[in-house]
Amino acid sequence: MRIEKSTCPECGEQLRGTIEIVHGVALIGINADGTAEYEGDTDMWWDEQIPVAGEATNTFRVICHNSHEWETRIDFEDEPPLKTADVTVNIRPEVTS
Ligand SMILES: [Zn+2]
Repeated sequence: MRIEKSTCPECGEQLRGTIEIVHGVALIGINADGTAEYEGDTDMWWDEQIPVAGEATNTFRVICHNSHEWETRIDFEDEPPLKTADVTVNIRPEVTS
């Protein structure tokens, strides 16, 4: 794949990756008394993971290691995403590296 703007326009770091949406099931157990509790695990539906589209055609939301977001054109060449999420997101994940 080729990424038009692979460095952060705010801090100059390389991008960390695309911002994606993935659904899952947060497991819930039902107690003998009928109450319910989260069990602590979530089954992620990785096969449905999709990148978040930018506002311009063929652009996607990306993020750097300092959690700055921008959009860039991405040419997926041989492996285009099956579909993209056309939503507005404001995700600020923890910096892990
Ligand atoms: Zn940055």
